[in-house]
Amino acid sequence: MPFEREQASNFGAGPAAIPTPVLEQAQAELLNFRGTGMSIMEISHRNQAYAKVQEEAEASLRDLLSIPTNYRVLFLQGGASLQFSMIPMNWLSAGQTAGYVLTGSWSEKAQKEAALFGTVRVAASTKEEGYKRIPNVQEIALDANDRYLHITSNNTIFGSQWAEYPDTGHVPLIADMSSDILSRPIPVEKFGLIYAGAQKNLGPSGLTVVIVRDDLVEAANKELPTMLRYDIHAKNDSRYNTPPTFGIYMLSLVLQWAKERGGVSAIARENEAKAGLIYDAIDNSQGFYNGYVAPDSRSKMNVTFRLATEELEKVFLDEAKASGLIGLNGHRSVGGCRASLYNAVSIKDCERLAAFMLDFQKRNG
Ligand SMILES: *Cc1c(COP(=O)(O)O)cnc(C)c1O
Repeated sequence: MPFEREQASNFGAGPAAIPTPVLEQAQAELLNFRGTGMSIMEISHRNQAYAKVQEEAEASLRDLLSIPTNYRVLFLQGGASLQFSMIPMNWLSAGQTAGYVLTGSWSEKAQKEAALFGTVRVAASTKEEGYKRIPNVQEIALDANDRYLHITSNNTIFGSQWAEYPDTGHVPLIADMSSDILSRPIPVEKFGLIYAGAQKNLGPSGLTVVIVRDDLVEAANKELPTMLRYDIHAKNDSRYNTPPTFGIYMLSLVLQWAKERGGVSAIARENEAKAGLIYDAIDNSQGFYNGYVAPDSRSKMNVTFRLATEELEKVFLDEAKASGLIGLNGHRSVGGCRASLYNAVSIKDCERLAAFMLDFQKRNG
């Protein structure tokens, strides 16, 4: 059945929902961007009109996340997955060690890339427990000799999220925040580097945002292919080559929208309320729905749950989809159900899902 946009609630994990007002503005400006007579996609990345867009995107991100002045904001390509490789290439070499905390599939992928360049030390892992929780800060084995410590702030596939970040002293803390950047305030000063693919909370795919401390940029490996060097991207304002201009433009609109909503503190409160609606539907179901993750590690962005049997899950997912609740299937590697509640998913979408869950339970419980 075809849907109108208003009839579809998009709970997809990524690429994911983008706020409707943002898409409307992009549509309105698509043919003629700010009186240039051209689309933003059709103008040079050296053009003043484009330069202003990139400046606005950076300024909004700095404002929203209170990014200190000794950090650079970079707009790169290759997804979060290329960051898995670029990070060790730039700061880890043979004979050196980096710490990785394993909390899910994406951390494992990051660790695997690092092992190509140096020694990986697993500082903590909940793999044996099926990644059902985030380790406590006290469980993390820190080592002052690590080149850096890598964590995944939100585990998109398993549905867990760090509530509190470890203190790593002078060892740079590096975080993959692909699926929860902009969802809550971030103590940026605790981190050496933060990276995120844009397609969950920031805009379209094809753009990766990197926030990196100056001293790390300076200390980065210079004997690398040019495109893999953070210092080159920093020196050239992310315009060493053609950046993903349309993605950066969309990011600037999403960030403007986020500011109009009251910034990340207001967005975080809304995200708490949204996740609360779905977790309540799970917790009040008397075991009809079972949350995958330990309650204290639950993600506000990706709510993962199971039903009694895979057959019942299939009926649930099919009926949900037919009624306009889209993208609730779990990741292909773990199955089950997952509701991704990124910033662009509204309270109304979540109320709709919670009501559907209750009704489905009544009919099948
Ligand atoms: C989606 C996701 C990735 C993969 O991002 P790509 O941009 O596809 O490389 C990596 N890490 C996390 C936490 C993710 O959610």
